[in-house]
Amino acid sequence: MNQINQSGWKPGSPVPTEHGEQYPTVTGNKALMLEERLIFELGRRDTCGVDLPEPDPAAPNRLGKFARQQALNLPGLSEPETVRHYTRLSRQNYAIDLGLFPLGSCTMKHNPRLNEKVARMPGFADVHPLQPVDTVRGALGVINELAHWLIELTGMHGVAMTPKAGAHGELCGVLCIRAALEARGDARKVVLVPESAHGTNPATAAFAGYEVEDIPATPEGRVDLAALKARLGPDVAGVMITNPNTCGLFEREMKAISDAVHEVGGFVYCDGANFNAIMGRVRPGDLGIDAMHINLHKTFSTPHGGGGPGSGPVVLSEALCPYGPLPFTAKMPDGTIQLVEEENAAEHGHTETFGRMAAFHGQMGMFTRALTYILSHGADGLRQASGDAVLNANYLLRSLDDLFDAPFGDTGPCMHEALFSDHGFAEGMSTLDVAKGLIDEGFHPMTMYFPLVVHGSMLVEPTETESKAVLDQFITAMRSLGERAKAGDEALKTAPHHAPRARLDEAQAARKPVLAYSAEV
Ligand SMILES: *Cc1c(COP(=O)(O)O)cnc(C)c1O
Repeated sequence: MNQINQSGWKPGSPVPTEHGEQYPTVTGNKALMLEERLIFELGRRDTCGVDLPEPDPAAPNRLGKFARQQALNLPGLSEPETVRHYTRLSRQNYAIDLGLFPLGSCTMKHNPRLNEKVARMPGFADVHPLQPVDTVRGALGVINELAHWLIELTGMHGVAMTPKAGAHGELCGVLCIRAALEARGDARKVVLVPESAHGTNPATAAFAGYEVEDIPATPEGRVDLAALKARLGPDVAGVMITNPNTCGLFEREMKAISDAVHEVGGFVYCDGANFNAIMGRVRPGDLGIDAMHINLHKTFSTPHGGGGPGSGPVVLSEALCPYGPLPFTAKMPDGTIQLVEEENAAEHGHTETFGRMAAFHGQMGMFTRALTYILSHGADGLRQASGDAVLNANYLLRSLDDLFDAPFGDTGPCMHEALFSDHGFAEGMSTLDVAKGLIDEGFHPMTMYFPLVVHGSMLVEPTETESKAVLDQFITAMRSLGERAKAGDEALKTAPHHAPRARLDEAQAARKPVLAYSAEV
């Protein structure tokens, strides 16, 4: 109240405020978008949303000295208050079901409702990983069928289904490489990673115990084959290459890269997170790749981020298959599907496994959704999806490259994502300003400052699921923001103005995060 009075505002008289608001409200709410306080500020100690029986004072204390002495300090809310708190917060969020999510490298595509319908069928939704194998033959059949499709689509020899994210899949692939090298008594130390790699690639190699060395990119944004060849030698365990790469370009020399690496006894890991650009058109197996993860939550339309868990199956070459993790499914000559675990691995000739990636079989709910997506599209539909994804990205690239600098725009069409830089912005204007301006225009920002090889990069991936009308609206917003960035519009530097929170001090937030609520603060 005070603040509003201090600003001199009277009902009906427009007063611009810090956030560009013409008509402040006494509640802080903006029409039906409600302001929300922290749950600890809302809660009261004397309230609880559930009725619990009073503990029996005569019951023996089985916690001994570990019994809690002080109050638990939980925020007490009634059930309706709790529901409203989280519903209000959810309305401040953005989601693929609300609008375009142009996050490059993330393939934020529509999650078809058919996937959800199938995943909720009781026979799929209610299976438990500890059920006797005889009672889950159908679920094993789903895993096996999906594995079959992934092998077919990639032209590889086998697949490890258990990794639970792309990065987890990378680790699985690199552990296979390490096991294969150890099996031949070859203690190689180095993994080569191009400059344009996704951050998870060097992180994975380092986590698996390797020294990571950079390979430079050519001015065209691709791996420098000559530099790679020059560095290859008997100490190189392998390379990790993203294809299509994070500049949105296909690595045309992939086969030559693989051949050169194999020649010195190394292995080729391909980061397949961008498979959405080439699905049904290029088989990584034909390019000499030994291991590649597939993000079911990107290419195969299963929910992403806050929407659900990821899933990162890894397809493997014949050379790496023997080292793949347990468990996996195997189709027997009589058509039954067996689960191969430690106790029967020898029967299946799988004695050199490096171990396990997960306690159980992987993300069953995601397998069901991804297989539904695959079967509802068919081979021709998947091929069309990748073509449409590339078409949409090129439509964005060519609708914006006269205004925004497109570093590799002259080298030909892009794949599934279009890359722009901040080159040509007015002094003091940055990629961050454009991203924050996009929020005001009702779009989730694109991927910013990645890949690192381009200054102030903006990586935009529309995916095939956006209509031309949506793309045109996005282009209109981007063109307006591009013009404002070039003109040095001061108002863009303080965007967003219409979001529930204005621009935050990101350095403060990163360096002095307040992670726990304390009433004393
Ligand atoms: C998303 C992504 C990853 C990591 O996948 P997660 O499922 O997020 O672990 C790796 N590489 C690239 C190129 C990606 O886009």
